[in-house]
Amino acid sequence: MAYKKHWADDDTIHPFEKQKLEMDGLDIFDKIDHYAEKGFSSIPKEEWAMFKWAGLYLQRPKEDGYFMMRVNVPSGILNQDQVVTLAGIAQDYGRGIYDITTRQAVQFHWLRIEEIPDIFHRLSRVGLSSAGACGDITRNIVGNPLAGIDPDELLDTTSIVKDLYQFFQHNYDFSNLPRKYKLSVSANLRNASNAEINCVSFTPAVKKIDGKEVKGFHLKVGGGLSSRPYLAETLNVFIRPEEVREVAVAVTTIFRDYGYRKKRTRNRLKFLMADWGPDAFLEKLVEYTGPLPEKGEEPVKEWNAGYFYGVHQQKQKGLNYIGFNVPVGRLSADEVLELARISKKYGNGEIRNCNSQNLIIPNIPDEHVEQLLQEHIFKRITLDPPPFIGYSVSCTGIEYCNLALVETKERMRKIAEYLDEEVKIDVPVRIHMVGCPNSCGQRQIADIGLQGIKMKSKEKKGLVEAFEIHVGGTLEGGGELNKKLKGKIEAAYLPVVLKEFLFYFKEKKYAGESFYDF
Ligand code: SF4
Repeated sequence: MAYKKHWADDDTIHPFEKQKLEMDGLDIFDKIDHYAEKGFSSIPKEEWAMFKWAGLYLQRPKEDGYFMMRVNVPSGILNQDQVVTLAGIAQDYGRGIYDITTRQAVQFHWLRIEEIPDIFHRLSRVGLSSAGACGDITRNIVGNPLAGIDPDELLDTTSIVKDLYQFFQHNYDFSNLPRKYKLSVSANLRNASNAEINCVSFTPAVKKIDGKEVKGFHLKVGGGLSSRPYLAETLNVFIRPEEVREVAVAVTTIFRDYGYRKKRTRNRLKFLMADWGPDAFLEKLVEYTGPLPEKGEEPVKEWNAGYFYGVHQQKQKGLNYIGFNVPVGRLSADEVLELARISKKYGNGEIRNCNSQNLIIPNIPDEHVEQLLQEHIFKRITLDPPPFIGYSVSCTGIEYCNLALVETKERMRKIAEYLDEEVKIDVPVRIHMVGCPNSCGQRQIADIGLQGIKMKSKEKKGLVEAFEIHVGGTLEGGGELNKKLKGKIEAAYLPVVLKEFLFYFKEKKYAGESFYDF
């Protein structure tokens, strides 16, 4: 190893850190063929957690030996071969389930260890990988799903994200970080990448240097959700596009070498940033990069929360991108194959995933738009969804997730459909549901965030599924995390309580007034 793991001499590090010193997470790739041949029972229990570095989690109950796999999709951009390959994996091995995540990745369920080598082979044939999609390592790099076609981007970030992804992929210098590590790079002027909730974000900026206007980035550090959420803070630097990798490597090196390793709940970069503050962090950063220019101007217009519904002109004249709703991010493999067929027939075969768990079909010539929209699949996967199902987000929940306290995905879908029936409203209300405090469904930035808990029921014996309600989250204007309302609601009463709450909002608000402005 090229760098010194100084924490190896510290007796107070978390036991999992000791395990990570004995076996690097990426080493699991060397063992998977063997375990696939010998079967699930041949995998020592203490190695289960290391499968995360290969993008694999054991579903609940762990003993049954089914895996969930997350596949990286940098910036959410998939070409035709990649879409077809992913659909094929879902169809052949994943019981037909294809989930789009809140970080533009794709998730499968129900995979068996015997099937993993073939899945890896299929992924690598089309340039995809699940390496680092989970674990204490650089996760999928989030970006502008419209990169390269966006009339609203300061610059095309496609090659920057690709370079960063290739650099950090399977890189043993950065495979033992203190905790999960989330990067985002976007020059979209509507903050489509949710910059403030990532550990590190490169956001669009301009600066006059030597009399010339240069397009580049500002740097935000230390965001993250979970039970102790923080919004990232902006460092006083301007970064040219060609400097992004050097700066990303420097920040990651600081996290690796100075990040905390004692408590799993205190190890993320946000805690180091909260303790140091932006000035001290910058001082350390320039020790690695050398001097960097001070901040420039931020041309960001507003926050679109990753929603792109409808038909929109691209920066390329005569071509359009169309944003569609995928209810709570879940598609069937057959639907993905149908979308792949349509994207090839009318466009260039690409499909792009959004942080809002929805998708975009790009590169549709003006003359093909109407015909494309007649395709039968767009009765469910619509471009103008109603205000609740169209703006609902859900994490995986108890169906597959070992950390979940409650069921989420199907419940969120049913509640959104119920609200669309019951409450007619003139603005979208973003509702995010999560099954535990880890917040994969990003409930802190929702208009209404629903967090699953267990509570004692007056009527039933034992503990029942329930929810806390948090309101008022946004990333508009620098961002604000939502706040918890008093009390908790038993899951069975949640639809009615939300309906009454939304009636109140509807009655009191002005026409066109959004939930955030209320
Ligand atoms: Fe699982 Fe909790 Fe993440 Fe939901 S938020 S997927 S329950 S860890």
